[in-house]
Amino acid sequence: MSALYQLTKEFNKLNEDTVIVCYEKQSTWGGHWNLQIPSENVRFKEAMHSAMYKHLWSNSPKECLELPDYTFYHHFGKAVPSFPPREVLRDYMEGRWKQSQCDLFKLVNGDTLVKNVTYNDSDDTFSVTTSRVGDNRTATQIFSHVIVAVGRYTTPNVPKFTGVESFPGRIIHSRDFRNPVDFRNQRILVVGASYSAEDIALTCSKFGAKRVTVSWLTSPIGHRWPEGISERPLVKHIDGNRILFKDGHIEEVDSIIWCTGYIAEFPFMESRLAPNPTQVVYPKGLYKGMVWTGCNTNKLFYMGIYNLLYTFPVFDLQALWISRYIMNAIPNEPRPLSDMILHIEEQFIKTSGLKSFYDYLDYQALVINMLCTDTGYTKEILKFDDLFRTWLRQRYDDILTHRNHCYRSVFTGTMSAKPNTPWWEARDDSKEAFLR
Ligand SMILES: Cc1cc2nc3c(=O)[nH]c(=O)nc-3n(C[C@H](O)[C@H](O)[C@H](O)COP(=O)(O)OP(=O)(O)OC[C@H]3O[C@@H](n4cnc5c(N)ncnc54)[C@H](O)[C@@H]3O)c2cc1C
Repeated sequence: MSALYQLTKEFNKLNEDTVIVCYEKQSTWGGHWNLQIPSENVRFKEAMHSAMYKHLWSNSPKECLELPDYTFYHHFGKAVPSFPPREVLRDYMEGRWKQSQCDLFKLVNGDTLVKNVTYNDSDDTFSVTTSRVGDNRTATQIFSHVIVAVGRYTTPNVPKFTGVESFPGRIIHSRDFRNPVDFRNQRILVVGASYSAEDIALTCSKFGAKRVTVSWLTSPIGHRWPEGISERPLVKHIDGNRILFKDGHIEEVDSIIWCTGYIAEFPFMESRLAPNPTQVVYPKGLYKGMVWTGCNTNKLFYMGIYNLLYTFPVFDLQALWISRYIMNAIPNEPRPLSDMILHIEEQFIKTSGLKSFYDYLDYQALVINMLCTDTGYTKEILKFDDLFRTWLRQRYDDILTHRNHCYRSVFTGTMSAKPNTPWWEARDDSKEAFLR
């Protein structure tokens, strides 16, 4: 949606006669921030995308997601707490999209699946083949430029353990986790040691799981967990509902949840147009993380596939950069392909030594600074750096209370409100309860 927002704004300034078309396989805008319950509102599996669930709250302070031209204070008309539930963040984003001078919703062709994108060497264009969800008939349209903005969390990465076929209980990937209440009174094995594992373990425990064991591959998450959550090294073998871990410990569980991440795939892109999905800190082949250099064109862009801590403002910044790039309005751009490839190699070397979250933050500041210089986007967003560092400290101090802290908006100077209920005790994730 950032792409639509910035493209329409930039092209409107010029009164350009440009046609902008957005294809979206869900029936509405919102991407992952929509709650898609399979049996209720998604008729067709191919339209499933969102991996969010009931009782998912923002994992970082909203002050690190705030957009400079549309603040949370402006949207809600008052200071609200720093860690909102999913529905509240979606509401904020929708507010921003609706304030566009264009009717962005009209540009979204919902229930439309992109099936195939190919590059036409003869005239430097792209053929985009789509179908309506649930209908096999296809249609193909030609475009001069294509922006791929399907996110990084597409195909579940599912691990293989010996004996898994003997497990009698429920096994799901975090992508299909929809409600912690489904796991009440259960003994759960969560495999993974990143954000999903952490949040699903805590949320299940909060909603009455009997016990949760989090199993890690390289190192434990290491929080001071509440009673009922513990960590173990990786699973060695599964025998019925008995799990043998690498440290020799054996435990019985009722359900297994793979929180083993995603493979960023672009199956609808012609192979010579698709970046290497394993390179996510600085995706190889993408100049400035956006312009695809693997083909003889600079008119194909990818958005939001960096593995960054910054999310919404960087998507917005990328969207502005791409819009200006298309309009030839970025100083010293477009560069020859050889320069772009050199730049990518330099960045790739820089990022290969990054280890901690703090290293990533330093690197992200460099990238953001560069894109802000190119576009004139406000460098105030670099002040998020301090907020992120405070947040990282508070998470490690106490994972149960870190969502109760207040943060100050970089743009309005407003301190957030205190939450009316501490996160660990909150059982209502509705917008009404949050704003009460
Ligand atoms: C469980 C979970 C929790 C998260 N929590 C947070 C958080 O707390 N804070 C935060 O900042 N970020 C969080 N994120 C990251 C989140 O992905 C980003 O905030 C944001 O949604 C990325 O936006 P996007 O538009 O790039 O991708 P998405 O939101 O994934 O949107 C991509 C869109 O492309 C559509 N699409 C995909 N394939 C096709 C196709 N072939 N044809 C047509 N349409 C297609 C999808 O339906 C979707 O609408 C979380 C992600 C997950 C999975």
